Amino acid sequence: MNLIAFSMKTKGVRNFARRLWTVFTRFGISEKRTRKALYALIDLLHKYHAAPTFFIPAVVLQRHPSLLRAISGDGAEIGIHGYVHNDYRSLTESQQYKQTEQAIAVFQSSHIPYQGFRNPYLGWTEESLHVFTALNLMYESNEAVIHDVIDPDQLSPLQRSGYEKSLMLFQAIEPTIYSLRPHFEGSLLRLPTSIPDDEMLFDRLRITDPGEIGRIWCQVMQQVYDYGGLYVLNLHPERGILCRRALSILLQYARNRPHPVWLARLDEIALWWKERSQFRIHITRLGSHRWRVEATCTPRATLLARYLIVEGQSSSTSNIVGATALPRPLTLACPLQCIVQSEKCPCIGVSPRTSQAVQDFLSEQGYPFVSSSLENADTFSLYLDMPEDLGDTREGQQYRCSELVQQIEQLDAPFLSFGCWPAGYHAALAISGDIDSVTIQDFFLRVIEVSSKNGANSK
Ligand SMILES: [Zn+2]
Repeated sequence: MNLIAFSMKTKGVRNFARRLWTVFTRFGISEKRTRKALYALIDLLHKYHAAPTFFIPAVVLQRHPSLLRAISGDGAEIGIHGYVHNDYRSLTESQQYKQTEQAIAVFQSSHIPYQGFRNPYLGWTEESLHVFTALNLMYESNEAVIHDVIDPDQLSPLQRSGYEKSLMLFQAIEPTIYSLRPHFEGSLLRLPTSIPDDEMLFDRLRITDPGEIGRIWCQVMQQVYDYGGLYVLNLHPERGILCRRALSILLQYARNRPHPVWLARLDEIALWWKERSQFRIHITRLGSHRWRVEATCTPRATLLARYLIVEGQSSSTSNIVGATALPRPLTLACPLQCIVQSEKCPCIGVSPRTSQAVQDFLSEQGYPFVSSSLENADTFSLYLDMPEDLGDTREGQQYRCSELVQQIEQLDAPFLSFGCWPAGYHAALAISGDIDSVTIQDFFLRVIEVSSKNGANSK
């Protein structure tokens, strides 16, 4: 599907005409306007000691290597956004492989370091995941989590149908405690992105007041914060100047949360999640209600303890705030060795027949477990007997993983686990942007590039 077909299909003719007009107002003949927009975002994030992640199609990078090298030198991460700006859903696996390989070659010859990939239109397929894995990309950022921040009843029928079409195109999934966490599929890390993005708000729903956009993004931030997850904001630098105030509102909001929010680039988050996946907790029984805990981890790790007494610590961790709230976990510095007192072993017991997939999942999520027979089930805070894998379909897997994480996080019993984020951060926020075009010429070349690439592939 080319750009015009895509725009017509999802936005209608009137919206497409409006889009054409805005192209002329947002891009210039030279790089100047885009450079200004990119630096508006970089400079704003710099005030928060952070930097953005930009994704760019390789052909666009090829036309503007010095601009990309400059922003990379100024702290921005650059990721791959296709060889051309096309939808991978219209390509076979070998076509996807070839184009991703070509894109990588352009990044390498332009001396731009890259770690991750985001598909144009977030159009990923199962084959894309194989391709990214085979080509050793560290992460992809395509899974679109839709937050309930737009009231469909307030939209005109046209806006509503456009909004719903976007959700279908982006293959949107529900926000849960699990879907908002990074996760591995084999060696490939998946970093979910949150929508609505700037394009849905500005161009589709015609919300142009930066205060209102900022308010919507803060609402998303709050939802993600409540889950202790990752908020990847996706915006297009062509709206960098328009988005600056909204982004400033979001950053201020994130900074003012009661617990700190980690502002990081996607490659930093991916590296952290890789580091964290190696952490382990070993628990040995010392006697009645006493356990030796050894955490194998780096100093960036946070160990969370609840409903137990850590010997040598001044207070127990069973302090409950309010009648229904979860206990506030005690944060312990890592690496760590300590002795804890608790009625039950503060980890998960798993039956010998529990599947490897479930055990790998628990490890990745930072939950300690021990294989144990059913007779000893009640010596553990939680006992799992899950012989089956986590589900045959993606939806089924999402559901079961979310249920499991939710069940563990709400355990009303002694438990130790690793915090999701480094250095005691409660949630994470990454500002990412897709540089689809730098100049007006790039914008119109897209149409030719995409059709010739798809045409070449169909031969
Ligand atoms: Zn794009």
